[in-house]
Amino acid sequence: MSLQFHTVPVTPFQQNCTLLWCDDSLRAAVVDPGGDLDKILAAVEERGLKLEKILLTHGHLDHVGGTAELSKRLQLPIEGPHEDDAFWIEQLSLQTQMFGFPPVETFTPDRWLQQGDTVTVGGEELEIHHCPGHTPGHVILFHRPGNLALVGDVLFAGSIGRTDFPKGDHDTLIRSIQEKLWPLGDEVRFIPGHGPMSTFGRERQTNPFVADKRFG
Ligand SMILES: [Zn+2]
Ligand SMILES: [Zn+2]
Repeated sequence: MSLQFHTVPVTPFQQNCTLLWCDDSLRAAVVDPGGDLDKILAAVEERGLKLEKILLTHGHLDHVGGTAELSKRLQLPIEGPHEDDAFWIEQLSLQTQMFGFPPVETFTPDRWLQQGDTVTVGGEELEIHHCPGHTPGHVILFHRPGNLALVGDVLFAGSIGRTDFPKGDHDTLIRSIQEKLWPLGDEVRFIPGHGPMSTFGRERQTNPFVADKRFG
């Protein structure tokens, strides 16, 4: 029994919407359905998955824009992000205007997530780590048995999340990466919110923003 994943880039921002499923039961979660629901649902159908929930890393439009519609269409509960991102979700219509997206409905998550929580996908369990900085309520998902993390816009291959949005903070983001991500282990592979996968170990070596050598 193990956790499988498939990434579907969505929206003009090519956000890595990720399907996670338990290969035992084919029960699945969709993480960060930012939009392009037809693409996401085609990938679900192709694999014969049974969607059981929506998981959200943070409240930015390119990550949550398709949530209300998908949740309504398939009666899926919404888990995440941390409640400190409620203001982003409440301002979804403002975000669509800012980025020139078609209007989307807002929503209220069925469950806000906190540091130390766990979420399930079929028979698999993932840890929740609260990683503020890019947004104050950003969470990451960690599957310990598979050494796989979904880190949203906290960390990218070769870069880190922007911190010039309201309630963003650079020092807080660096601390989240060093104190919440690195202790999970160098060998952890991660799916970022945008761009290719990497490992924490590789970023600690080469990422110009958070490589260990920058901090002595
Ligand atoms: Zn973001
Ligand atoms: Zn993003």
